[in-house]
Amino acid sequence: MNAEARVINPLEAASPFELRMNQSTGVAKSTVKAALRTGEMGFLHSFTTGSTVDGPGVRVVAWTAGCHWRCLYCHNPDTWNMMNGMAVTLARAAEELRKYRNGLQTMGGGFTLTGGEPLMQDRFAVRLFSAAKDMGIHTALNTNGQLGERLSDEELQQIDLVILDIKTWDRVAHRHLTGKENGPTLNFARRLAALKRPVWTRFVVVPGLTDNERDIAQIATFTASLGNVERVDVLPFHQMGRYKWKELNIPYTLENVEAPVRELIDRTSQRFRAVGLKAY
Ligand code: SF4
Repeated sequence: MNAEARVINPLEAASPFELRMNQSTGVAKSTVKAALRTGEMGFLHSFTTGSTVDGPGVRVVAWTAGCHWRCLYCHNPDTWNMMNGMAVTLARAAEELRKYRNGLQTMGGGFTLTGGEPLMQDRFAVRLFSAAKDMGIHTALNTNGQLGERLSDEELQQIDLVILDIKTWDRVAHRHLTGKENGPTLNFARRLAALKRPVWTRFVVVPGLTDNERDIAQIATFTASLGNVERVDVLPFHQMGRYKWKELNIPYTLENVEAPVRELIDRTSQRFRAVGLKAY
């Protein structure tokens, strides 16, 4: 994308690794509250296009701002604060999607909402998914699952695929890693299974943090028991977001952690395959 186009459409980003801050400074508290209640407006870090890793086919991805977790390996800490996102009306976000409708359909792709944590803005998410479905666009939600109960069973039907992050199994380790308990995430996974909704899961391998063999085996067993998980993406930790922690002046504890070696990734994927799951 050239600079001129970026000025015309500041919502588009070349990648989610662009640091974006204070895009909604000055938006009144009452406006934020109304937006969260009605979903008429959302707070977005950016839109990116051409993703092949956020669901089937080629995807347009909207990155929401706002997350109540504090994952030690988060590569987008600028999305933690909702006010770092740009205030975007539902109509404008839908219009952005409409531009890509034909291409997405041709390429068997779709629209993915990720973040941040999209369900911090659950009404906006539901309404944007509904607009996408009306355009015949495949929809995917990438979530940490904590706020899954904000969506009704009917609303979950509007979402063709849930990409659920399962960070680690041990409760104490999970709290250390994210600041939160993993119970709600696992309950959301069970609920999606009961509803027979399609799910992919994601697991990030961080050497020394999430690579405990017993925990991985327990996640694999749990995931396989659900019966609705179509694939597991095993992702290597990376340092592409490190500079954001520095820019935001947030203490970063993984400064010296290196990306996992190929063999660890393969061994982890194999754990999932061993219980009958497709793992990549
Ligand atoms: S849930 Fe996602 S956005 Fe939130 S802190 Fe964790 S990695 Fe970052």
